[in-house]
Amino acid sequence: MENKAFDIKSMTLAEVKQAVEAMGEKPFRAKQLYEWMHVKLAMGYDEMTSLPKNLREQLEAQYPYTALREKTVQTSKLDGTKKYLFALADGNYVESVWMQYHHGNSVCISSQVGCRMGCRFCASTLGGLERNLTPSEMLDQIYAIARDTKERVSNVVVMGTGEPLDNYDNLLRFLQLISDENGLHISQRNITVSTCGIVENIRRLADEKLQITLALSLHGATQEKRQELMPVAKKYALEEVIDACRYYFDQTGRRITFEYSLVNGVNDTEADAETLCRLVSGLNCHVNLIPVNPIKERDYTASKRREVLNFQSRLEKKHIHATVRREMGRDIDGACGQLRRRLET
Ligand code: SAH
Repeated sequence: MENKAFDIKSMTLAEVKQAVEAMGEKPFRAKQLYEWMHVKLAMGYDEMTSLPKNLREQLEAQYPYTALREKTVQTSKLDGTKKYLFALADGNYVESVWMQYHHGNSVCISSQVGCRMGCRFCASTLGGLERNLTPSEMLDQIYAIARDTKERVSNVVVMGTGEPLDNYDNLLRFLQLISDENGLHISQRNITVSTCGIVENIRRLADEKLQITLALSLHGATQEKRQELMPVAKKYALEEVIDACRYYFDQTGRRITFEYSLVNGVNDTEADAETLCRLVSGLNCHVNLIPVNPIKERDYTASKRREVLNFQSRLEKKHIHATVRREMGRDIDGACGQLRRRLET
């Protein structure tokens, strides 16, 4: 595999071996280097004291090492949730979130700087897409948080800024590295990738037959409603999106999660719930209801508590498993993408 385009932390162990051998070193040095990067979470070559000094110098010259700098961190007094803003090497910023649940610790990462999907209620897309994140920049969000909290990360959700399936190759490499037994070895079953529904890439991902969970951002149960909230829906008919989800389940055996943000007066009526039931019936799925988190640039408001519970019970009556997303870190920054945006405007 061509690896010139990748920084050292984005390389597979086999590629690191090639790189190290090209420097005239023994293969076991590659294993050590890989471990320093992906298990010991080193911040730079200078920490890699078991490697000979001249190798560290050669690496420094050929493969500049990057790690994220923490710009700000806010900690919730209610539940310990932490929101991080990290500076990338080129001066861009990304945000990531740390959440503690009884079943383990979860990190939510960004996959792009900005986003070009244009979802109406989302703050991450307001300034458009700046650039894709590299595999190592996705890993580094997790590594920086693991170092900071000194806790084990058991779950990863790719639900921060960006559309992961719009950065497909880097995402796939990231998924391989984060679940690699020689690295942090996070179980694929504990990884969720959330997409607005790029149909051809859902199918590609299905063909990889990974064990990750696919979360599909639905937000509307008809083509018209979905289009109103998500411009990307104009490109893909709703049936195509649902078909791709069915294909994902058939290929991987993994139950699909549908995300449905409830927007007051837009998609939260009983009729909407009934339409949603019909749309997903027969699919092995779970519906995650999220009262929309209002952003100041738009005038959408969250559905009332009563509407949310009503919506949920309509689904459950039709035997569709539905949960209401627990709000974490209510006292720290609001919706996804708002931290970075505040900094930049
Ligand atoms: N681009 C991917 C992943 C990032 S967004 C996707 O679209 O799925 C993660 C989830 O948060 C998506 O379901 C997205 O629609 C939702 N979301 C974004 N902004 C929100 C807001 N203000 N309130 C509620 N949910 C929001």
